[in-house]
Amino acid sequence: MNDEINELPPKICEQCLGNETNIRMTKIPQGSECKICTLPFTLYHFKTSKRSSNLIKTLICQRCATQRNICQCCMLDSRWHIPIQLRDHLISIVNEENVITEEAKNDMMKRFLSLKDVKLGGAQITSDASEADNIIDKLKSILLRATSDNSNLPLQRQKVTAVNQNEHDTNDVKNIEKYASLDISYLLKKLPLNESFSRNASTRSYFLYNIDTSIPEWKISDAISQLLDVKKWSDGNSLSLIVNHKARCGGLRFQSNELGEKFVSKISDTLSTPKDLKRGILPIERFKIFIIPWTSGFSAASFGANVAENIKLSLSLNKLIQLELGVHSFVKSADNSKKGKTKTPKKVHKLKAKKSKSRANKLIL
Ligand SMILES: [Zn+2]
Ligand SMILES: [Zn+2]
Repeated sequence: MNDEINELPPKICEQCLGNETNIRMTKIPQGSECKICTLPFTLYHFKTSKRSSNLIKTLICQRCATQRNICQCCMLDSRWHIPIQLRDHLISIVNEENVITEEAKNDMMKRFLSLKDVKLGGAQITSDASEADNIIDKLKSILLRATSDNSNLPLQRQKVTAVNQNEHDTNDVKNIEKYASLDISYLLKKLPLNESFSRNASTRSYFLYNIDTSIPEWKISDAISQLLDVKKWSDGNSLSLIVNHKARCGGLRFQSNELGEKFVSKISDTLSTPKDLKRGILPIERFKIFIIPWTSGFSAASFGANVAENIKLSLSLNKLIQLELGVHSFVKSADNSKKGKTKTPKKVHKLKAKKSKSRANKLIL
């Protein structure tokens, strides 16, 4: 019954095949029983080099491998080279739906399942290049948020805190409550949030936000001077930079429009917001600072008159960043899937405060 599919070459990943250009592969029809469906299948075995003592064998049949989009030898996902469970878990988190590769319990059902023409669990995603890219893009946005919110925690700790209880999360939630009544609309109005980043911008001032508290000001000015290929720009007064870490944003002003134009022309990466506005991206280590032209210019007071206003501004920008990254809409749709129509950001915060939701929710904010 497996004859037709056995005409195709075996589904073996590059990692298993190794680097040698010519490898001898032995084919034994009905040579083994599939570890998944128990049916006999065409066994292939090979060595990655003549001198290798390690004989690599296909462990599962091609049908089972195709259904799960995995390698017949290492049984890892063919695209991402990770175990099936991890792949499915990752996709479940990102897509906020339960994706599992359900395996049949008894031999009868295993055989029956193996004959079906289906893609199981996360294989539906990773067997399709654009679906897989889509997940990676979403994951990047989530990680970008998670890293910029968890500032200088090492990755491992970030995971733990995200799973248990994110201190930063609580701080933000506390701060949201604490500063709920503080009105900073006069500050927000003066920020160029409705302006769009353009490589042809002719201005000398720029608004910078999504600045992680762990990035020192000198790192930002170093990155800019490197970009402009200007040495010791600060001595020459070619630009001034104000970073307000409490507000997690800042302003950048060049001495001339020409320098400003050069700066935007060197920014290679941009982000398009759902409102169709563009943000330039200045990468610093694993962080990404967003850039918008600020034609009206700024002063130190543009980021708040006191610490409370600074913090409130950072919270407002945080919300904006979530919207701009599309993270918010992703929370919203998840909520919908479970409870029908729900809505406001308030609802989302409530859920988070109660710790009642899945891990994916905790990655946000
Ligand atoms: Zn099988
Ligand atoms: Zn493999």
